[in-house]
Amino acid sequence: MANKIPRVPVREQDPAIRATNFEEVCYGYNREEAMLEASRCLNCKNPRCVAACPVNIRIPDFISALAQGYEAAAAAIIAEDSSLPSVCGRVCPQENQCEGQCILGIKGEPVAIGKLERYVGDWKIENGCGETPAIERNGHKVAVIGSGPSGLACASDLAKMGYEVKIFEALHEVGGVLTYGIPEFRLPKTRVVAKEVEAVKRLGVEIETDVIAGRTVTVDSLLDEEGYDAVFVGSGAGLPRFMGIEGENLNGVFSANEFLTRANLMRAYREDYDTPIFVGRKAVIVGGGNVAMDAVRTAKRLGAEATIVYRRSEAELPARVEEVHHAKQEGIEFRMLTNPTRILGDDKGRVRAINCVEMTLGEPDESGRRSPVVKEGSDFEIECDVVIMALGTSPNPLIASTTEGLETNRRGCIVATENGATSREGVFAGGDAVTGAATVILAMGAGRKAAVAIDEYVKSKK
Ligand SMILES: Cc1cc2nc3c(=O)[nH]c(=O)nc-3n(C[C@H](O)[C@H](O)[C@H](O)COP(=O)(O)OP(=O)(O)OC[C@H]3O[C@@H](n4cnc5c(N)ncnc54)[C@H](O)[C@@H]3O)c2cc1C
Ligand code: SF4
Repeated sequence: MANKIPRVPVREQDPAIRATNFEEVCYGYNREEAMLEASRCLNCKNPRCVAACPVNIRIPDFISALAQGYEAAAAAIIAEDSSLPSVCGRVCPQENQCEGQCILGIKGEPVAIGKLERYVGDWKIENGCGETPAIERNGHKVAVIGSGPSGLACASDLAKMGYEVKIFEALHEVGGVLTYGIPEFRLPKTRVVAKEVEAVKRLGVEIETDVIAGRTVTVDSLLDEEGYDAVFVGSGAGLPRFMGIEGENLNGVFSANEFLTRANLMRAYREDYDTPIFVGRKAVIVGGGNVAMDAVRTAKRLGAEATIVYRRSEAELPARVEEVHHAKQEGIEFRMLTNPTRILGDDKGRVRAINCVEMTLGEPDESGRRSPVVKEGSDFEIECDVVIMALGTSPNPLIASTTEGLETNRRGCIVATENGATSREGVFAGGDAVTGAATVILAMGAGRKAAVAIDEYVKSKK
């Protein structure tokens, strides 16, 4: 299936300029561009894009409304299934989901569903969508732990069903990884994340920050003492992994989590903040996922010469293609098929270099990707003063260890069914806390499914 109109390109900040600032990379479509791109959609009877969307947004319907210039209608259609369109339009891996399945992609370029979703989400932030209708309360209370995408999605759906919902968030800011992980140049905090969180609050969801479940409150106390009918755990996977190699305790070695959290929450991206963050002259970022790309691009913007070190080849990079492309445009160096073996320090205990070996690719491993094999005698050093480890994260064990009867697996993830039910009655879980580090939209999908299951559970108790 071909389309006569080519995919409308999106305007972006010049790479040489944006590599020195934290302004958003992508400008998004204007109205004319959005309507033209929307007109490419064939409005398929059996839309493959919808089936590939983890929250099943009615994609052709919102695109059709947009093509006719009805932004408010498009926004209302998306709102039925997603409370975070401006966020998802920016960070979802559309190439593997909706756009990856778009029929136009078979012979040409898929509809730019993500950019259209972003346009509609931003339109809604700027123009509003009328008053939020009053929702009749059903007299039941649900507690949600964590204010990331899974918690926000679960809370929104439950609030719409009439539940009194309160989110307990450990940090002083709301949004989970959207706020403390993904950098400003990909996802603006004040202009986008805070605005979409506000919309969730307008549904009646209460959010209390600085409350650590497992310390300030426990899941048991919420259920047994505070009168909550159910608890949803959406506490993410914020515990960083390290390689376990010599030199990881040297000054100048950070986890990407710590580095990005500091940059985001302490506003290193703003000229008027003097954020205590050390980026050195030469920073090596170990890893190849979205987190590694975010860390390396942040390090570059903060003034370092920044390099990615990844043990497989470019074809296996788990990061979004768009992020890798942007990083390359910005002058990031990529050292593929390279694996660190040791971090070397100076006489003051500070990083001075990283020792690596070259790799080749062998047989596929259990992930289906070809496994890296060390090339004997290929040791070499890369001079650097900062090493940032972006090797993935696991869930923090705090909630599981303080909740009676909550089962976890060997990776420390909470064991839950497809609908979020855990081994503990009345406790549901979803997002990265269950799957390990995954994606925003999968976390939202899990939150939504759990909301349905919680509703059924509470009704079954009546
Ligand atoms: C740097 C980075 C870049 C990423 N880029 C992308 C991307 O481009 N696209 C994409 O789709 N995904 C991306 N991801 C992954 C995505 O952000 C996560 O999969 C998603 O945020 C998971 O949502 P969640 O709600 O499960 O958890 P989180 O977003 O981690 O939210 C969990 C929340 O729970 C809180 N919490 C934890 N423990 C407690 C406790 N004991 N008590 C109270 N609150 C607690 C945390 O403070 C946090 O606010 C990225 C992740 C990172 C780290
Ligand atoms: S598959 Fe593509 S063309 Fe068909 S409805 Fe979805 S976005 Fe439109």
